[in-house]
Amino acid sequence: MALREIVRMGHPVLRAPAEPVPASAMRSPAFARLVDDMIETMREADGVGLAAPQVGIGWRLFVYEAAGTGSDAIPLRVAVNPVLEPEPGDPVEDWEGCLSIPDLRGLVPRHPAVRLRALDRHGEPYERRVEGFEARIAQHENDHLDGVLFLDRMTSLRSLAFLEEWHRFLVGAAGGRAERPE
Ligand SMILES: [Zn+2]
Repeated sequence: MALREIVRMGHPVLRAPAEPVPASAMRSPAFARLVDDMIETMREADGVGLAAPQVGIGWRLFVYEAAGTGSDAIPLRVAVNPVLEPEPGDPVEDWEGCLSIPDLRGLVPRHPAVRLRALDRHGEPYERRVEGFEARIAQHENDHLDGVLFLDRMTSLRSLAFLEEWHRFLVGAAGGRAERPE
């Protein structure tokens, strides 16, 4: 496994819609390496999610995982060619960051629960209902596949803060735990 460079806002790959991963590519060793590298890169960067465009690859693929205790923990998940379907419910605001937009945090409204349909890393389809923090991560990562960044989803930029000031003045203001970037 190897760490990949995480591209930052301004790189055009973050603004381009990603292409579906072809079935033939999914069987290649290069694809397995990419998935392994993304997982390692996410963990090394202390992120809770990483989408392929963030490592310069325009494919519809993301990984996520959040350490935690008990019910807080979100196990590692790989989503290839995902489709998200929001469930009914009022949007919930919470803090988000992004590995491609370092050291900024902002309040972002998201659907409280979504249905995630995707392929796993071996091409097997799965479907899960995810809610809360996991639903937030899935929506953030899925946005990356459409060239959308969390700043685009903010209804106001007034909460936008540098990480240091966020820790000092704002942490806990929305009761969130999304302090790790995605
Ligand atoms: Zn992100």
